[in-house]
Amino acid sequence: MSLVSDSALRRALARARDGKALDVTEATVLLHARGERLDALLEHASRVRDAGLQAAGREGIITYSRKVFIPLTRLCRDRCGYCTFATAPHKVPAPFMSPDEVLEIARQGAAMGCKEALFTLGDRPEDRWHQARTWLDSHGYDDTLSYVRAMAIRVLEETGLLPHLNPGVLGWRDLQRLKPVAPSMGMMLETTSRRLFEEKGQAHYGSPDKDPAVRLRVLEDAGRTNVPFTTGILIGIGETIEDRAESLFAIRRVAREYGGIQEVIVQNFRAKPDTAMRGLPDADLEELAATIAVARLVLGPRVRIQAPPNLVDSEYELMIRAGIDDWGGVSPLTPDHVNPERPWPQISLLESRTASAGFRLRERLTIYPEYVLAGEPWLDPRLTAHVAALADPATGLAREDAVLRGLPWQEPDGGFAASGRVDLHVEVDTAGRTHDRRDDFDHVYGDWDALRDRLTPAAHVAPHSAASLLGADHVAPSSADEVLAAPAPETRPGGIAGADAAVSPHAVSPDAVSPDAASAQGVSPGAASPGAVSARGASLGVASPQAVSPQAALSDGVSSGAVPAGAAVADGASHAAAPNAAGAASSPVAESGAGWSASSKEAAKKPSKGAAATPGDVRQALRRAASDPAGLSDAEAVALLQADGEALDELAAIADELRRQAVGDDVTYVVNRNINFTNVCYTGCRFCAFAQRRTDADAYTLSLDQVADRAEEAWQAGATEVCMQGGIHPDLPGTAYFELARAIKARTPGMHVHAFSPMEVINGASRTDMSIRAWLEAAREAGVDSLPGTAAEILDDDVRWVLTKGKLPAKEWVEVITTAHQVGIPTTSTMMYGHVDNHLHWVRHIKLIRRIQEETGGFSEFVLLPFVHTSAPIYLAGIARPGPTAQENRAVHALARILLHGAIKNIQCSWVKLRDDLCRQVLQGGVNDLGGTLMEETISRMAGSENGSYKTISELREMVEVTGRPVRQRTTEYGTPTQERLDASRASDGVCKSVRRVLPLA
Ligand code: SF4
Repeated sequence: MSLVSDSALRRALARARDGKALDVTEATVLLHARGERLDALLEHASRVRDAGLQAAGREGIITYSRKVFIPLTRLCRDRCGYCTFATAPHKVPAPFMSPDEVLEIARQGAAMGCKEALFTLGDRPEDRWHQARTWLDSHGYDDTLSYVRAMAIRVLEETGLLPHLNPGVLGWRDLQRLKPVAPSMGMMLETTSRRLFEEKGQAHYGSPDKDPAVRLRVLEDAGRTNVPFTTGILIGIGETIEDRAESLFAIRRVAREYGGIQEVIVQNFRAKPDTAMRGLPDADLEELAATIAVARLVLGPRVRIQAPPNLVDSEYELMIRAGIDDWGGVSPLTPDHVNPERPWPQISLLESRTASAGFRLRERLTIYPEYVLAGEPWLDPRLTAHVAALADPATGLAREDAVLRGLPWQEPDGGFAASGRVDLHVEVDTAGRTHDRRDDFDHVYGDWDALRDRLTPAAHVAPHSAASLLGADHVAPSSADEVLAAPAPETRPGGIAGADAAVSPHAVSPDAVSPDAASAQGVSPGAASPGAVSARGASLGVASPQAVSPQAALSDGVSSGAVPAGAAVADGASHAAAPNAAGAASSPVAESGAGWSASSKEAAKKPSKGAAATPGDVRQALRRAASDPAGLSDAEAVALLQADGEALDELAAIADELRRQAVGDDVTYVVNRNINFTNVCYTGCRFCAFAQRRTDADAYTLSLDQVADRAEEAWQAGATEVCMQGGIHPDLPGTAYFELARAIKARTPGMHVHAFSPMEVINGASRTDMSIRAWLEAAREAGVDSLPGTAAEILDDDVRWVLTKGKLPAKEWVEVITTAHQVGIPTTSTMMYGHVDNHLHWVRHIKLIRRIQEETGGFSEFVLLPFVHTSAPIYLAGIARPGPTAQENRAVHALARILLHGAIKNIQCSWVKLRDDLCRQVLQGGVNDLGGTLMEETISRMAGSENGSYKTISELREMVEVTGRPVRQRTTEYGTPTQERLDASRASDGVCKSVRRVLPLA
């Protein structure tokens, strides 16, 4: 261990003593403390822990969880040098424990008063061992996680034990699948050291799941999914002392942004004789104590910190002095299968050793008390009864006298009891919304301050001028294949340190705040120096989307070096924008330096020079658009988005001519009704003003009958389509969507059911544990005719993870859409723009849509959805800009027509989001469709759109009249409705009576 100077140690200790937040350097220094310096460090850490326990109402209490250990499989696709758990198929009687074996352990544990079933297993063994694949196939499970899910349900139903799942690396969708069957999950971060992963002979070499970026992404996805999550670091596996400090700061960043890290384990390496690392010395216990103390100081008072009691020899008191407040899981029945040579201490011994240090041992559940008490959205409703049976309702700790018994786990029936403000669809136009924001505004979207810190100063200081928050080096996926093939987006290994160490669902701890810590931590390892040009930055200028590598597609530039101002467009500078109505600052090129990560904060301070496009660039791009519309390079397309004045008119004229070639002069609309069956949702989309918490004044859920009634009313008014989407209500079973479709078809068999966004499809598939394909096929059988291609927003995860806390990643959107097309369900495609995105994102998004269309042919239209800001949370929080400008709206509608020429015929504008005059303008610049009469548009109205919640046919015709173009009613598929439908819609003017506004009498 390298030494640090005593003066540096004294200075860092003084800061810790005074409650000042530490940066990585200071934390690293403190990790060296020994002797009396260590005593001082422990004293400061103890004080912080005690304050946290007092604030939590658990003064003087150290917790543990009484558990059984279920090693579901000891096969693993990884090869970690220190692991004695993983083994080979010939060394175990079977690849997986059988259900009977699982239940036998769980039953015995329940009989001994255990309350947690810890499922620990190797990472996706079927990827490496054919024996595992064969076993799963022969037992009817698609993958290891399906088996885990099934066994978790059996344990809940037959024993009442609460599963805690430790199945290794999980993707966003895996977390959706597993959340309803386990109140908590976990995965050790271990370390952020890339050296251990990349260098041959190091502990994590050859283990794909030990890539620190992958593991950090798991922590983030768990936070996005509202899963109470356990993580931690492993010390003594070859990492440096600084690596340890950085690992703690990485955990702190995620804890603060999402509030989902329920505990942090600080675990010491213990060499095992039959492993590659058998020669390494065990991590010293004083070193462990110093690490725990620094973890406590860095993570703050509200984080729960744990040291496994079977790995600390007899140094219980030392660990308590270091600042732990939890001993983790202790089993009276099963050994620690990961450290089999080290038996758990008897609980009575642990109790007495804890008491000797002045603390009382109390049992907790696998889900920590803060999350038990918070309930939704951390605890899935399917688990509420199981947790309530074991939890003390006052403290959220375990009821030690609880008698374990299995309780049914099942999807709720229906979930369609009408509740709340079911007339909101009409009242939104009369009485309006009750409050401008939902009651849980401060935490349902994650931590706003942490999000702000993640953005660069330029990104959120001036929402009115900042159009481009992402660096132009960031490259969105260019093809459906790339999106599907690319690895999940990486998180930023050194990303932004929080100004706080809050970890409880709502917690913010002022005493851990450290602006200096944030900036020190925020420098990512690969941050490019000002003036540098990354390979990705250079890709802005490439003409062909194929030139973008799949790796570049979804893993953003943060870890490999954010590109500072101007640099990203070095080779594309000549294509950059001319000043326009939005001002130079709205150019993605001009602000390309406003890179996304903290790593480019310094770079972002240097404004871009010479990044503006010239009129010559726009002219050249216009020429290319006229001669080879779909061949526009990214830079040319971006330049066109800056077109203004005569250039904009010319752009519109080119688009208008392409529209004429593609679909003629008809302006079309459909007579339809939106039915938003519930607005209860905890996904945390930061642009969404529609979603409410269950108990909010504006929350509602419609019954199946109400849904069918509305469809019937619409049918009587001549509608040919209902468009049905809703919030991701935690009570709805995965089959609810099928019931909705059936209810409509039963009442109105001729109605086209255009329903369920890709987010809803994933929600339905996850809850039923069906594949996306199987779920879509079932939905089609239930009556779904087509899918709205909503939830696309911008198909770039760096934008998405600002726009939403928990909505599906871009890759999942593409998978749902392409699968729908493959099974014969057509979809629309959309883009919501003008919030925290930039013009390059728009271009990449549209090009990606084109590529998908070229591969599947399943899109019926492309719909442009300008961001409506007024009540959008992300705007209220001061992060997004107030939607696109009029110039941008004209330009992007025209550009969509141009870029999609020869692929998608129908370009639709949204009268809901554009004013009538803007609709008219875009109709003369590439648009041929106005969407529907809608009858009850509530989503944009809740966000503050002032364009009404329906349009009659007369109003739509009036809007188009001045263009001189013919107007015609269409079906969803752009055919002609039957005469009977046309007559019915003419009679109602396209809108049913029940939603018509009644003007107040004068
Ligand atoms: S956009 Fe949909 S998923 Fe997101 S919060 Fe709103 S209702 Fe929920």
